[in-house]
Amino acid sequence: MKTWLNVPSDSDFSIYNLPFGIFDTGDGQPRAGMAIGDHIVDLVAAAEHGLFGKKRFYKKLFAQPVLNEFIALGKPTTNRIRRRVQTWLCLPDTPEHASQILADRRSARMHLPVRIGDYTDFYSSIEHATNVGKMFRPDNPLLPNWRWIPVGYHGRSSSIVVDGTPIRRPHGQILPPGQDTPVFSASRRMDFELEMAFIVGKETALGETIPVEKAEEYIFGLVLFNDWSARDIQRWEYVPLGPFLGKNFGSSISPWIVTLEALKPFRVKGPKQNPAPLDYLRTTGSRNYDIELEVGLSPQNSNETVICHSNMRYLYWSMAQQLAHHTVNGCNIKVGDMMASGTISGPTKDSFGSMLELSWSGQQPIQLQDGSTRTFIQDGDTITMRGWAQKGDVRVGFGQVGGTVLG
Ligand code: MN
Repeated sequence: MKTWLNVPSDSDFSIYNLPFGIFDTGDGQPRAGMAIGDHIVDLVAAAEHGLFGKKRFYKKLFAQPVLNEFIALGKPTTNRIRRRVQTWLCLPDTPEHASQILADRRSARMHLPVRIGDYTDFYSSIEHATNVGKMFRPDNPLLPNWRWIPVGYHGRSSSIVVDGTPIRRPHGQILPPGQDTPVFSASRRMDFELEMAFIVGKETALGETIPVEKAEEYIFGLVLFNDWSARDIQRWEYVPLGPFLGKNFGSSISPWIVTLEALKPFRVKGPKQNPAPLDYLRTTGSRNYDIELEVGLSPQNSNETVICHSNMRYLYWSMAQQLAHHTVNGCNIKVGDMMASGTISGPTKDSFGSMLELSWSGQQPIQLQDGSTRTFIQDGDTITMRGWAQKGDVRVGFGQVGGTVLG
């Protein structure tokens, strides 16, 4: 595919990608767009110039500050719009009105792309679950249910923010080592979790279940997800009901939703599952996606060090298995619901997706390029996650999700 627009060859937002997002250009009017190179296809302007037919309908739809209604129209429509924009970008010559339809991505402000209904966080990396298990329960790292159930918990959507939003270090109850009564203090073990999240594109009725082989029909697309975590608060509170205030003070997402259609060429098998999952979780073929992931840490006024390289392909439980499990009891899902993967750690030390694992619970400090070290995140540190898939010249990326921790 060849476009008349100048797209840098290393751009995450190639002609093969065309992700959806919500942006504004300083005019206070958040609206729908699609990223291409350093530009945004302004979908309101594209509708105005008749790209999609039904001018009034599409103008109104794309002028909304979230994508929920558009996504709810279903994949036949969302795919048609994406292909229509792709065709327009591949016309033999620069089309009329191109300058009115394109906005400058570099100066645009990005918003949350959807109104997030419910948010669920899974725990689907066996390497992460085993690493954390070893630290919290040395004699019993992987609990007996883990290889049978895509373990998850219900999180909180109100505190999910978009790339660039600062995160305040939380205060809470912490049990100091060797003591038996807690203190109230700022977290001293502030951490990130490298995750991917998918956005639900099709609702179900209460009582309905989603078969695993149909689950991807219910997934609109993916974003990068940083599940900020306060390990000391988490450690004291997590028994018996799981994560609570150690997690719900903030999670950050990348602003562009990359569609499953754009990710199709990057399907891969995924790790062998042993024991074989129960029937409702059994899949055939390629259940995972080959998406390279990295995390950079930039101290205040200093250069970034990349401290983690991982890949979504390592996930033990796939998105389809997560969704089949989530709905197997009849729990209904809604357009705009967000489901995160859990920390994506790989098999090697440099692929661990949290500082808890990279510094092995603070025992092995991480070296940074400026000579300083870290065990957990310090005030003023910026954490930036990036993700991309690449095959030959075809690159489909997510851009980034970054956030600075404030004291
Ligand atoms: Mn998490």
